[in-house]
Parts: sequence; structure tokens; C-alpha cells
Amino acid sequence: MRENIEKTIVSTEEIQKTVARLGQELQTDYQGKVPIFICILKGAVLFMTDLIRAYDAPAEIEFMDVSSYGDALESSGEVRILKDLDIPVKGRDLVIVEDIIDTGRTLEALIKLLQTREAASIKICSFLNKPARRLINVHVDYTGVTVPDEFLVGYGLDYKNQYRNLPFVGVLKPEVYEQN
Ligand code: 5GP
Repeated sequence: MRENIEKTIVSTEEIQKTVARLGQELQTDYQGKVPIFICILKGAVLFMTDLIRAYDAPAEIEFMDVSSYGDALESSGEVRILKDLDIPVKGRDLVIVEDIIDTGRTLEALIKLLQTREAASIKICSFLNKPARRLINVHVDYTGVTVPDEFLVGYGLDYKNQYRNLPFVGVLKPEVYEQN
């Protein structure tokens, strides 16, 4: 698996430092509250499990699987729910935990949906941020690392559903794509 990586973008050490910083920031901001961390499957799973251990205070965790891309139009702005939350979120403080914000479409659709459920607050925490490709101006409250416009794998991010278990974020060698 590692032999297919051309270069590292975020090392294991940088991941650990970044997650510790984000956990601290969230802990300070949510003092006295019990936020719900909502992990967006599948990409954010690794980040989520590290983040909640860096958050040393009461919190709940939930999982959602969504797709903002319908069968026809990419920019429909509608979210397709593949797995919904198990609990109502009315009056609750929500932290959406994402792997990467790219165009911003997924997030925009998700925020719209959660707003209809009358959450008390909705904040975004994304491990990676790729602003070069942004189409929709979404505000990211907590950003781990800002990355260049390249296709990344590792630490939850996949290529054909593989490479998610790499303990760092990197770029694949071009021949990996050419083989397919
Ligand atoms: P957005 O709606 O912001 O365009 O899409 C975000 C989603 O696209 C992420 O949650 C992730 O699953 C996928 N994505 C965006 N950029 C990358 C990337 O560089 N590598 C991989 N593997 N997935 C990406």
C-alpha cells in the first residue's frame, strides 16, 4: 500500500498534533455544554475516533452517511441520506465532523437539513480544507490542515474504497490511476 504513495502531505506526527489542538479548542468552546459530534461516514471515521479522545469532557457521538450528489444534477443542493441520525437534535449543539471540505456541496446540503431540525447550534470541524476547489462559501469553524488541490488518500480518505487505513495523508503515484 505505502509503495503506491508518491508523497506525504500530512504526516502521522502532524495528524496527532492537529487533532490535539482541535480537541482543546472544542473543549474550551463547549465548556458546560454536551455537544453531539456527528461523524460523516465513511471518510471522517478515523478523525472522529481520534478527536473524541482529544476532547476530555462530556459529549455524545452520532453517525450520518450523506450524499449531496443526486442521480442527475450535482448542484441540486439536496442531500441524500444514506444513514440518518438515531436521535432528535432539537435544541442541541452539533459539531459536524468531516474529513475534508472540497467544493462545499455536501456540507451546504447537510447544514440546510440539520437547520430544519432546529438544532441550537451547528459548527463544522474538518480535518482537511481544500479551499482551491470551493464552489460554495461555507464557513468552517474548526480547520485542521489546509491542503493543496490534489487528490488525497489516507487517514480516512479513499481511492476506490482503499487506502483509508493509511496513518498519514498522501498523494498516490500517477501509475496507480493508469493501472485502472
Ligand atoms: P464536497 O461536497 O466538499 O465537494 O465533498 C467532500 C467529500 O468529497 C469529502 O467528504 C470526501 O469524501 C470527498 N473528497 C474531496 N476531496 C477529496 C480528496 O482529495 N480525496 C478523497 N479521497 N476524497 C475527497
